[in-house]
Order: sequence, then C-alpha cells, then structure tokens
Amino acid sequence: MNKVYESTRDKNERIEPAKAILQGLSNDGGLFVLSDLTSRKLDVSSLADKDYYEIAQDVLTVFLDDFTKEEIKDCVYNAYKGKFSTDEITPLVKLSDAFVLELFNGPTSAFKDVGLSMLPQLTSTSLKKTNADYDVLILTATSGDTGKAALEGFKDVDKTKIMVFYPNDGVSKVQETQMKTQQGKNVKVCAIEGNFDDAQSGIKKLFVDDAFKAELAKENIRLSSANSINIGRLIPQMVYYFYAYAQLVKTGEIKMGDKVNYIVPTGNFGNILAGYYAKQIGLPVNKLVCASNDNNVLYDFIQSGEYNRKRNFLKTISPSMDILISSNLERLLYYASGCDNAYIKEIMDELNTKGSYKVKEDVLKSIQKDFTCGYATNEQTAETIKTVYEKDDYLLDPHTAVAYKVLLDDVDKEHKNVVLSTASPYKFTDSVYHSLHSDDAGDEFELMKKLNEETGVAIPKNLQDLDKLPVLHEDVIEKDEMKEYVLKNVKEI
Ligand SMILES: *Cc1c(COP(=O)(O)O)cnc(C)c1O
Repeated sequence: MNKVYESTRDKNERIEPAKAILQGLSNDGGLFVLSDLTSRKLDVSSLADKDYYEIAQDVLTVFLDDFTKEEIKDCVYNAYKGKFSTDEITPLVKLSDAFVLELFNGPTSAFKDVGLSMLPQLTSTSLKKTNADYDVLILTATSGDTGKAALEGFKDVDKTKIMVFYPNDGVSKVQETQMKTQQGKNVKVCAIEGNFDDAQSGIKKLFVDDAFKAELAKENIRLSSANSINIGRLIPQMVYYFYAYAQLVKTGEIKMGDKVNYIVPTGNFGNILAGYYAKQIGLPVNKLVCASNDNNVLYDFIQSGEYNRKRNFLKTISPSMDILISSNLERLLYYASGCDNAYIKEIMDELNTKGSYKVKEDVLKSIQKDFTCGYATNEQTAETIKTVYEKDDYLLDPHTAVAYKVLLDDVDKEHKNVVLSTASPYKFTDSVYHSLHSDDAGDEFELMKKLNEETGVAIPKNLQDLDKLPVLHEDVIEKDEMKEYVLKNVKEI
C-alpha cells in the first residue's frame, strides 16, 4: 500500500513516503524517487493568494501520500513558525539586474535551514505513523552548512540521535565554531582528515554495510540521513520556488503562467533539483541555471554529458559548493533517462569504479532542455560581491555571488530572473570583507563587527557572540575511522 517511492537503481525496491524519510537512502545505494512525478500536479493558479505556510502544505501534500492533512499542517507550522527571523520565511528582494530569493533567515543562517527545520518534524511524524519501536541515528556529512542546520533541527528531538562529520580545515571559521559549540544531549560532532567527498563517501559506505547496521540493531538503532538525498529535505526545498513565483505574480512583476529563470549556486545538486521537481509538478520555469565555483564538474557535465570526478578538488571561497560528487544528480538522470533504473545502476557503478561516465545523447538533450550552466572563479566571485554592493547596496555571500556572476554573464531580459541566495554574508565574513577591502584586519569575529558598522547589514542573532560560547566538540579522526567512531560513541548519546 502506498509504496510509491522506488530506488533510482531498482524498480522493485519500493517503499512508503514515511519509510523513505526514515531510511534516507535505498538499501541498494539508490535514491528514492517517484516514477509518476510528472502526473502529480500542484494548483498554481491560486498561488498568489497564499502565504508560505499554505504553499508548503500544498507542496507536501503532492509528495506525502500517507500523511494526513493535519499531520502536514502540524509539520509545516512546527518547522517554521517563530523559527525564522521573518514570517515571510524566504523574502524576495528586487535588485537592479535580478530578484534575490533570501533563503538564509533560519536558525543557522544558511538555506539548509529550510529543509532541515522540516526534516525532524517529518521524521518524528513518520516514527509515530509507522509505530516504530526503535531510535533513529542520523549520520551526516557536511561541507559546512548542513551539519549545523541538522544539529539545530534534531537536537533533543525524541527518539533521534545525530552525528555530524565535517572536513577538518574545509569549512569556514564561523561554520566550524557553530558546530563545535553545538549543545544538546543527542548530538556528536567530529572532524575528519579529508575533504567533503571523503566524508560523504564514508557515510554512504556505512549505509550499505550490513555488519555495521547489525551492530546498531543490537542497540535498537536504525540509520537515517539528513543529507539532501533524503526526500524529507528535497520536498520542503520546492516550496520557495513556488513562493518566489507567487511574490512575482502578487507584485505585478509577471502574469500568472509567465515563465521565470532560477539561478542556483550548486554543489550537491539538491537545491536546484528541487527547482526541477517544482517544474515537473507545474511551476512555470524557463531555465534552471546551474552555477558552479571552480569545482565545475557540473558545468562540464551539462555542457558535454560527461561526468568526470577525476580532477583536483579545489578549495574556494564558496566552500559549501566544494564538491565533486553531486549525489542528487542521480535523480535528474533517472528522470532524464525516462525512469530507466537499469541504466542508472550501470552509470552509477561506472562512476564508482572508473570515476566517470558519459550519458547517452537523448539523456543529455533532455537535461539541456531544462538546464543551462555557468561558473565563477574565486576572483570573479569576490569582484561580484564588490560590484553588487556598490551598485545595489546589497551584500552577497560568496555562494550567492557565484550565482549572481553567472547571471550577469548572460542576462536573459525576456524573463524575470531569480537568484537563490543561500547564506548570510556573515557566515563567510572573511571572504566577504576581503572582497570589499584589501587590508588584513583581524579575526573573523572582529571583521563581522567591522562589516556591520560599514554596511549597516544586521548580523544574524545566531552569529552574534558565537565566539563566546563554550567549545563542546573537538574530536578529529582519519577518514577510514568513521565506522569505529560511530560504534564507540553511539551509546553515549
Ligand atoms: C549547501 C549549500 C549550497 C549548495 O547546495 P546544494 O543543494 O548542495 O547544491 C550552496 N550554498 C550554500 C551556502 C550552501 O550551504
């Protein structure tokens, strides 16, 4: 009954929505998808009259067949009411060349909050619905923002535990401090000697390690994931695409039905994939523009159809996009191939063994119908922060600046352009400050104050006085020690 989600890699691996949320990833390593996605529709015509909470309920209803109306409503209000610094949740700001959709007004000042405020609600509800008699352990790899947002979302949530792994020296000072000072009885934070891909691959391995899962089962614990592969994150991320559209209609910028471009700073392909899903269920989208930093593996892929992760991993000033294996791309490939599970399994195996694959011509054509792409170097990113500040008196964070640069390279004047803004500039104070100034002026937290005095842009509450909080987590391990680490520590939380 209701087993509507299937693995991208096997049609016979089927599961109900609630269980897909609890499990995160399919047992065969595939991602959960709906084969009937395009036949599900959201009524766009009434959007302009709705607020964020109402649109969120509409979106969740399309994807969570086994949730009641009441459950969906409770999840939405518990996730967002009073948790974001504005009741609009994701305000749309008009600049001279584009609209900026601010996704960073949540508890940790990054767009991850939109998904990760909702996921714990969906998890708790799913545990109840399925009469679960076990606890869930959330294992999460982070390039900086997911970790903190997941920790905040899951801290002290009944029947859940959470462990976060981040690349040592691979995150910003603010991000690191946010995680090391995390409070809560059910949390654990650990740095690994490696990059984000190492952390993510390590966790993916644990998800398919039967011996490991059997050890956890002895403690009555099952694994789940808070990474963007979980449909419980993907679904809430669609909401702001609809919300932005509703605002454009409401303010008379467009007529209902006009198509809009969305320019998305992309790493793991979760945010932009939500835009693709939104389009499939009825949102009038012209192009989704995939914006990469110097780790431009997705740019090359969308241009050529060849995905090749065998390249140097570069550290950039937009570290949350320093990724060479974009997990959620697998879902796009599934749809672009006409839901061909066997084909997806074949190319994902190839990626694992050879480090690359090339998609068939028709798959590439299908992708290029919906997506265009661009990328920005570090220098261009910094320049963009400066020029947009000077022109519009608006301070972009480096990730958003990557997308803004890609927009400016080729502005489509026939459509409205919405740039998704994924972080507060204060999360990356050092890079933002040095984009505006060449002097070397003190530590990150001092710079925060300076930047605030100079620009008048308010420092988000959660980042003020962050440096005064006690450090509670200092573990650092080798990248092949994750399994031992989890088993050793899981009993303590
Ligand atoms: C995670 C993140 C991104 C990339 O989003 P994906 O869903 O991984 O593509 C971009 N910017 C910021 C600030 C992020 O935290």
